[in-house]
Amino acid sequence: MKFYSTNNKQIQVPFREAVLKGIADDGGLFMPNEIPKLPENFFHDIEKYSFQEIGFEVAKLFIDDINEVDLRTIINNAISFPAPLVKLSENISILELFHGPTLAFKDFGAKFLANLLTHYLKDEKKETLILVATSGDTGSAVANGFYEKEGIKVALLYPSGKVSRTQEQQLTTLGKNIFAFEIDGVFDDCQRLVKQAFHDSELKNIFSMTSANSINIARLLPQSFYYFEAYKQVKDKSLPFVVSVPSGNFGNLTAGLLAQAMGLPVHKFVAAVNANDVFFNYLQSGRFEPKPSVLTLSNAMDVGNPSNFARIISLFENDVNLIRKRISCSSFNDEQTLLAIKEVKEKYRYTVDPHGAVGYLALKKYLQETGQEDVNGVILETAHPAKFSEIVDKVLEEKTVIPERLSACFEKEKVSVKTIKDYASFKEALVRTIS
Ligand SMILES: *Cc1c(COP(=O)(O)O)cnc(C)c1O
Repeated sequence: MKFYSTNNKQIQVPFREAVLKGIADDGGLFMPNEIPKLPENFFHDIEKYSFQEIGFEVAKLFIDDINEVDLRTIINNAISFPAPLVKLSENISILELFHGPTLAFKDFGAKFLANLLTHYLKDEKKETLILVATSGDTGSAVANGFYEKEGIKVALLYPSGKVSRTQEQQLTTLGKNIFAFEIDGVFDDCQRLVKQAFHDSELKNIFSMTSANSINIARLLPQSFYYFEAYKQVKDKSLPFVVSVPSGNFGNLTAGLLAQAMGLPVHKFVAAVNANDVFFNYLQSGRFEPKPSVLTLSNAMDVGNPSNFARIISLFENDVNLIRKRISCSSFNDEQTLLAIKEVKEKYRYTVDPHGAVGYLALKKYLQETGQEDVNGVILETAHPAKFSEIVDKVLEEKTVIPERLSACFEKEKVSVKTIKDYASFKEALVRTIS
């Protein structure tokens, strides 16, 4: 299977190249040339498949340059934690995607990409250096994916003083092959340094360098696995399956659309957004008008120019009416988000994080507006509430239980390399630290 660039369908590359490149030479995002359907009997027997087996059945439709044994190993290593469906009421359930090492759904994509890259690069003579600029969250998911992988070193660049304490502890306490660089600047400086390093011929002589960017197709693909996993756990499969997806860059939702194209019977996707409502406005007006992001309590969705929009319109060949048929969208503010956290607790004795709360509101609104009752409504819970305990504890007036894997990083000592934001200083620190 080949993968094309969303900027130009003529540009087509094999999967390996799409993964190693991350982004097409013309700046487009990679998409599969075709989306094969899974066989009828797969859906009929889906309850007999493990989560990992589901992953394998999906992945093998797209990945044809890795043998079956190796592909199974990659998937088994990546999908190493569950995605349970928890029932809130007759028609609303929560798909918990936070059972991974960094307590957010991004662990699925990051672990899959890490295992895939390790496989593709195992015969490289040079050491591989993964450079990641992070504003907080993605960095630790990626770093965890590559933790203790042989022949690979990870340099995380984060803006000093601009990430939360929890995020900083997660970024700086892994050790081993993970190195944190604390940049005296903002996120954009980190991104610029990474870009410059990629073009540095001296570094290229020492390392084979790769990014583990969120737009990498290998981060998207495994996110489609858990839509099947959710469907598998639904009891009465004859009812319409409606999935509410808290969205920022729309990677998660795009993965759902891929699952649907593979034959998963999704009745409707509900795109749940906060005050960053560019996609909502697009469905209303048919015009896509990116704008600067605004800060909200569900900050992983504070995106003013969703990168996966290019993939969505490519999938539907720019047909906004078709997109409206498949996706409904609604936007909620912080005040509504806080009330929703409270409501879910009071009504269902369940603690949602601010992102899941937006997902809850969007599903509820969809069910009310369409008057549908007999549905399997599923909310993707994208992060563990303990990650946002400052917000959640305050509304609920109680202390969220912090899972062991999060509290553990608070007991470890922060180790970072501080450097100023000019390239020469950063490079000097990088070479000194990791070679
Ligand atoms: C990244 C993230 C999102 C948004 O996901 P997209 O794929 O960018 O739409 C939502 N919730 C949490 C907790 C996240 O970390």
